[in-house]
Amino acid sequence: MSLRFSVLASGSTGNSVYVETKNQRFLIDAGLSGKKIEECFKKIDISPKELDGIFVTHEHSDHIKGVGILARKYNLPIYANKRTWLAMEKALGEISLDQRFHFEVGEVKTFADLDVESFGVSHDAAEPMFFTFHNNNRKLAIVTDTGYVSERIKGITKGANAFVFESNHDMDMLRMGKYPWNVKRRILGDEGHVSNVDAGLALAEILSDDPADVYLAHLSLDNNMKELAKMTVHQTLEEKGFEIGRQVKLYDTDPFSPTPLVSV
Ligand SMILES: [Zn+2]
Ligand SMILES: [Zn+2]
Repeated sequence: MSLRFSVLASGSTGNSVYVETKNQRFLIDAGLSGKKIEECFKKIDISPKELDGIFVTHEHSDHIKGVGILARKYNLPIYANKRTWLAMEKALGEISLDQRFHFEVGEVKTFADLDVESFGVSHDAAEPMFFTFHNNNRKLAIVTDTGYVSERIKGITKGANAFVFESNHDMDMLRMGKYPWNVKRRILGDEGHVSNVDAGLALAEILSDDPADVYLAHLSLDNNMKELAKMTVHQTLEEKGFEIGRQVKLYDTDPFSPTPLVSV
């Protein structure tokens, strides 16, 4: 029971996931203010002082807003690929050289008892990537901010015991909503975000007969609702023969409060 995680915050307003093993503690993105992230940490009874670093997926502000502040305050190493470093450098502010680390797409890095594998996603950023985390035969996969779930992503995340998985928008809410056409086109495009239905369809191909916990993440504030996302993914998976509630458990995430710290 040594791989644990909490989705500290998730949604278009800011994203951050905390992952820990017995010996390692990391943040994946810090897309809220440093203060808000500290508040989230308080709620799960963890001190950010104990962090070993921050992995950055891409340079969009809902993923990096608090990265510079937290890295300076707690003297944390930051891991990102070269192109993301270039794209986010200005927004982070002053980061000393000994806190800058490269983590390229497709690389596997080992941090004591934690193995981390990165993989590319299709999104309108410099070189966006997400991660799987491995410890003691347990596996956590985090995938958000992708226009579609490629065969490669399905392959890499297969076999995970827990997923933080994008379920960004309801197609009808987005189509009929107030967003200008170019923004709608961006979200619906190949480098945008995954809809509720597409999340369900992708998960149906990724999940096996083994039990899995799925945390629906990065919900749009304007074009989605927790219940709607859950219901749509639920129905889609059920139509594909999955037993929801027993074999597959679906969980919410929240833009402002963390999910409980649980074992993978
Ligand atoms: Zn993004
Ligand atoms: Zn995002």
